[in-house]
Amino acid sequence: MKFTSKRMQREADCVALMINRYCKDHHKAQSPPCEQCEELLHYALQRLHHCPFQEQKSTCGKCPVHCYKPDMQNKIRKIMRYAGPRMVFTNPIMSLHHLIDGLKKTPERQ
Ligand SMILES: [Zn+2]
Repeated sequence: MKFTSKRMQREADCVALMINRYCKDHHKAQSPPCEQCEELLHYALQRLHHCPFQEQKSTCGKCPVHCYKPDMQNKIRKIMRYAGPRMVFTNPIMSLHHLIDGLKKTPERQ
């Protein structure tokens, strides 16, 4: 799935990376993502694609709109909690971007 804005593309790359990382460590997938994680990744990208805020959005963890289905939200939360802190070492630039993006306030929805 392609995103038109740099910001959204970055967000997409970020979530893909985290899912792969989690999958490699937890599901011992030879070439992550495994089938189950692939499904979650696809879902995450779809949510991003339909995000009403697009470039204006804060990071998903801080978003007031919980657009994930509850079971998908549980899965992604677990993955972020695991992979997030590790990203600081493996992908410091991306983590920094994420930190900066997270300072942005999500606009009020009209
Ligand atoms: Zn997996």
